[in-house]
Amino acid sequence: MSLLAEHVLLRHRDVPHIRDINVYTNHGGYDALRKALSDMRPEEVTDVVKAAGLRGRGGAGFPAGVKWSFIPAGVKPVYIVVNADESEPGTFKDREIIEANPHQMIEGIALCAYAVGAQAAYVYGRGEFKGPFVGLQQALDDAYEKGFLGRNILNSDFSFDIYTHLGAGAYICGEETALLESLEGKLGQPRNRPPFPAQVGLYNKPTVVNNVETLTNVPPIVLHGAQWYRQFGTDKSPGTKIFCLSGHVARPGNYELPLGAPLRHLIEECGGGVPGGRALKAILPAGASAPILPGPGWGTGDILDLSLDYESVQAAGSMLGSASFIVMDETVDMVWAASKMAHFFKHESCGKCSPCREGTYWVEDVYHRLRDGSGRPGDVDLLLNIADQMDGNCFCLLGEFSVCPVRSSIQHFRDEYEALVKG
Ligand code: SF4
Repeated sequence: MSLLAEHVLLRHRDVPHIRDINVYTNHGGYDALRKALSDMRPEEVTDVVKAAGLRGRGGAGFPAGVKWSFIPAGVKPVYIVVNADESEPGTFKDREIIEANPHQMIEGIALCAYAVGAQAAYVYGRGEFKGPFVGLQQALDDAYEKGFLGRNILNSDFSFDIYTHLGAGAYICGEETALLESLEGKLGQPRNRPPFPAQVGLYNKPTVVNNVETLTNVPPIVLHGAQWYRQFGTDKSPGTKIFCLSGHVARPGNYELPLGAPLRHLIEECGGGVPGGRALKAILPAGASAPILPGPGWGTGDILDLSLDYESVQAAGSMLGSASFIVMDETVDMVWAASKMAHFFKHESCGKCSPCREGTYWVEDVYHRLRDGSGRPGDVDLLLNIADQMDGNCFCLLGEFSVCPVRSSIQHFRDEYEALVKG
């Protein structure tokens, strides 16, 4: 499989300086918004996004157009919240969009607002995005000046504003209801669901929460149509996706590929393969929040043949999530790697529910014991026991996901654990 002839999302790689609004408009920028406001009813915008099969790129993969259609008619105001709290380990795609191609995201937000009848959007960024958000604010100011935001956009009766907000650096605020709490000025902890944000969201009003990359897909879909978009990807996972590649590869970075591209292409052709001729030992396909997949010498079959779409990665025993691929070569101590992730989740647990608050603490405690040479017989099973007790009992997915590296590393690399117990 070859790379795309042209990027759909990382357009700055084909069109230098496209972050400048004049360059963006000279290359078809805001034409989709113009088209929607002059030729399409709001529900037609939702319909084309539905027909394109665009799935949320934040991790869950829920169809974006379907999510938009959940907004109840006649309840005002409606809000859009853009999830730019990009905090998953190994994920750095939204940042590149915000920094290098911000107008495509802004145009996507405006199209979403027109579709669902929203009056305002809030772009919620992780606390460390102070620098990228300075550039984003400049892009928003330019869009206001050109009449793409604000009152009576492009002389239509559609008016809409976008505001930016930085969080304080908590990973849990990437969870959409914790994000809403944080945006309202409260402690960033998840809410009960249902009700879902489409019914009771920001300030208890109907709210669409979408990720940066998801909304950046919308302008080309509206401009070129659903069939054009479906030329990329698979039937159930249409379109292109930005894959974040890091770890033991020669050329880490963001790569935009059609969904369904083979993992071999991502690692060997895009990433230049594992350096030094070392063997590929394991892959984290979705940062720390999904089961580890073993490399060819450690699992059955060749993981490099894996097709990079939501269904295939799930069938292989993991999740595509935000598509942040961390590659580990044969030199990696898998107990060390799992203990790092255990520490991350313990640090980021918001403390609201005891299975996660206590469970992540105990998991890390056992890892400390194993790694400092005082592991006890039964410690490996104890880790699995804690994971079993957390599974299905945590208030949100952070707690549920925290056991993925524990279980999968034991499943595929148990001998490394047992060697530590034996001293
Ligand atoms: Fe907070 Fe963890 Fe419970 Fe989620 S699972 S609510 S992060 S304590």
